[in-house]
Amino acid sequence: MTVPIDLTTLTIKKAHDHLMRGDFSALDLAEGYLQNIEAKNKELNAFLEVYANVREQAKEADKRIKAGTATLLTGIPIALKDNILVKGEQVSASSRILEGYRASYDSTVVVKLKAAGVVLLGRTNMDEFAMGSSTETSAFGPSKNPFDTSRIPGGSSGGSASAVAGDLALAAVGTDTGGSVRQPASFCGLVGLKNTYGSISRNGLIAMGSSLDIAGPITKTVEDAEIIFNCLKGKDVLDSTSIELKAESGKLKVKEMTIGVPRNFLEMKGIDADVLANFDASVEKLKALGCKIIDISLPTVPHSLAVYYIIMPAELSTNLSRFDGVKFGLHKDGQNLLEDYLRTRTEGFGKEARRRLLLGAYVLSSGYYDAYYRKAISVRTMIEQEFSEVFKTVDVIVTPTTPTPAFKIGEKTQDPLSMYLADIFTVPANIAAIPAISVPSGFVEREGKRLPLGLQLMGAYGQDALLFEVGKSFEGV
Ligand code: GLN
Repeated sequence: MTVPIDLTTLTIKKAHDHLMRGDFSALDLAEGYLQNIEAKNKELNAFLEVYANVREQAKEADKRIKAGTATLLTGIPIALKDNILVKGEQVSASSRILEGYRASYDSTVVVKLKAAGVVLLGRTNMDEFAMGSSTETSAFGPSKNPFDTSRIPGGSSGGSASAVAGDLALAAVGTDTGGSVRQPASFCGLVGLKNTYGSISRNGLIAMGSSLDIAGPITKTVEDAEIIFNCLKGKDVLDSTSIELKAESGKLKVKEMTIGVPRNFLEMKGIDADVLANFDASVEKLKALGCKIIDISLPTVPHSLAVYYIIMPAELSTNLSRFDGVKFGLHKDGQNLLEDYLRTRTEGFGKEARRRLLLGAYVLSSGYYDAYYRKAISVRTMIEQEFSEVFKTVDVIVTPTTPTPAFKIGEKTQDPLSMYLADIFTVPANIAAIPAISVPSGFVEREGKRLPLGLQLMGAYGQDALLFEVGKSFEGV
């Protein structure tokens, strides 16, 4: 290695500058991360698999750098959540039911990352099919939080967050259906972006809730998240719900912005006192940046979680019906076709997956469809309208990202409702299809360990760029 690389302070931007100056090569950089993976992955369980061709990818990146055709992401080592398809590589959504399955094509996200010249390090652990907030529903055991390994890193993109926080990858791409990028980012002291629905193609992501899912970056800085977002965004003919974001409004000066604080949302039970104190301090920082702070009322938005737990399982049960033991992965033999299905799905899916599949089939069944699914869709529309109204008077809405800091492994596994509450602040953005970003906002101390917290910034539909501006100013103070 030319110079020892300090991975702890490295960002995409800094690594790019070093690569351009020739301070180290993409291969040196990849070696640095491979060494860290070797040293720490046993404990963190962040990666399920490191791809065999990491060094070859890095050498290709070095050729591009020499040829002068590098992008900002050329040679940058990135981890992928285990629900993003890479042609020829295994992908399992951390489920037994996809045992042995290899992707037959590249997801659009991966097509774009490869075109930019990134080094794909491997696939990271997650909650099974992205159902969870802790990685504990993974068939391959939980990942650990590098700030305190007796705690979870969050979920469902927990392996991705653990990898970046532990310096096993410089950045990661995860997916967010109800908070799965932002919540683990917050628990691990990182930036997590859930961009406007449709702004990144879902082609080649293993679907959870199709009207809610979005891929998004987990990074150390807002600038890095923006770099990855700019690489991945755009309309894609292979995803009919994808969109081209319109040009920004131009109102990007942070000191001219109005920030809304939804007080009613913060008065609910179960929100940690230290989290509230940290949130108040964050609002003060925004005030010091020159933002105008106003209290807003969002009376329907707190119902988002209830709406989510109807719509998400309904879409999930439809999406996961394709895993029948015939087309993909695991197959268990029974006496006849129906028994094949039953055995494969009973043995292939974990407990949380089965719970949600039953719930989804139930809310869609005749007689209950109107009572649950249709009602949830109506409330979803009300929530969308409530946000649109409020965004006429504010530019950004802020909340804590999570109601508590990272919890202990096993602390919530017996109580699914308390686990679901971890997403109370993140789910509304998915329900309303709007962008939201989690930015590190400080630490709390628990049992002698410093645990990170995050501030969530939500913007109006399509206003992702505005969140980057506020986020960058906020992380600078
Ligand atoms: N934690 C939430 C859930 O369990 C969100 C998951 C996600 O965003 N994929 O559904």
